[in-house]
Amino acid sequence: MKKILVVGQGIAGTAMTWALRQRGAQVHLIDSDAPTSSSRVAAGIINPVTGKRFVKSWGVETFLPAARLFYKSLEDYLGISFWHETPILRLLRATQEANDWSSRCGMPDYAEWLGEQADAGDWSPYLHPGFSFGEIRKSVRVDFSQLLPAFRSKMAEEGVFSVQTWSYEQFDRQASVFDALVFCEGWSAMNNPFFPGLAWQVVKGEAFIIRIATESGLNMPREMIKKEAIIVPMGDGLYWAGGTYNWTFDDEAPTEGEKEILLGRLHDMLAVPFEVVTHRAAVRPATKDRRPFLGRSPRHQNVFIFNGLGTKGALLAPFWAQHLAEHLLNGAALDPEVDIRRFSN
Ligand SMILES: Cc1cc2nc3c(=O)[nH]c(=O)nc-3n(C[C@H](O)[C@H](O)[C@H](O)COP(=O)(O)OP(=O)(O)OC[C@H]3O[C@@H](n4cnc5c(N)ncnc54)[C@H](O)[C@@H]3O)c2cc1C
Repeated sequence: MKKILVVGQGIAGTAMTWALRQRGAQVHLIDSDAPTSSSRVAAGIINPVTGKRFVKSWGVETFLPAARLFYKSLEDYLGISFWHETPILRLLRATQEANDWSSRCGMPDYAEWLGEQADAGDWSPYLHPGFSFGEIRKSVRVDFSQLLPAFRSKMAEEGVFSVQTWSYEQFDRQASVFDALVFCEGWSAMNNPFFPGLAWQVVKGEAFIIRIATESGLNMPREMIKKEAIIVPMGDGLYWAGGTYNWTFDDEAPTEGEKEILLGRLHDMLAVPFEVVTHRAAVRPATKDRRPFLGRSPRHQNVFIFNGLGTKGALLAPFWAQHLAEHLLNGAALDPEVDIRRFSN
């Protein structure tokens, strides 16, 4: 049985650990427990159709069913529920936007993913007038705030998790104990000496938890809604609201500037008052070619990376963690589209 150390317990390290264990490996997982991380700030939304042009996400037809099976197996193992299939109500304002939506809905390969909707349902009393509406089907919220701590506790109970910051000085000792190390460090991996020359394009994001004061008698909506920002009902009058995108930043702290931008986007949708309960920020481990980073270090035979999940960790982590696990344990070939050897020239 292979003994493997996984470094980092965001969604990448969690999925990697589970994929390796499912294939019989003995895994020890460590995490530095930093005050913020991309996975801890994220809403965990899987949105199959994104962008201004309403285009299907890369590989969604393959990655979404893989994600469902994978997260369902984790739900069974942990005895919790964190996979919530919830449509996204897309708010459309400009005529051009509504027309583009209609033509996408008319395309045969979009029929199962998109629909037109006459009204906003339970959201109606919360929104400004003047929108038309589309529905993004098969969207999901993977509640990382349930999954990550539950997985960590279970690993700790089994004695295979420790709070620890990996550093280079530990390498010789670890290399004598473990058959392989897999780094899942999020954007901190930019400083990892085992993986030079990767084309990162990290992007900071900020998000709120807001409370919307509801008049008595109003139902709390179930769907997520999206325009420039996305609002996700979490229960008890609380909603996740975000996020922003900033490619130049000094640190991981929340900023007043992005707060103002996000507030503006929320006021553009919501006609009702709301209160910002928390304001958080983190850096997404995004890549220039928008493809994950998988593979073996050019500097050490037994050192691997699983990273570069960018804005789509919830969708991508399950499929690609299993792909890397097959490579590492069973020698399966890595897809060149994600293999970090694409940067070796
Ligand atoms: C505002 C915002 C909203 C987002 N919304 C969504 C969304 O709705 N849907 C979606 O799919 N994605 C979303 N994302 C992106 C998503 O968060 C990422 O794709 C994903 O979480 C990246 O996970 P990761 O495990 O690679 O990195 P991280 O989450 O950063 O995890 C890395 C972990 O490694 C640990 N670590 C780092 N270095 C070391 C070390 N040397 N030793 C030990 N531990 C270490 C860190 O403490 C951390 O826990 C969002 C991101 C942001 C910022």
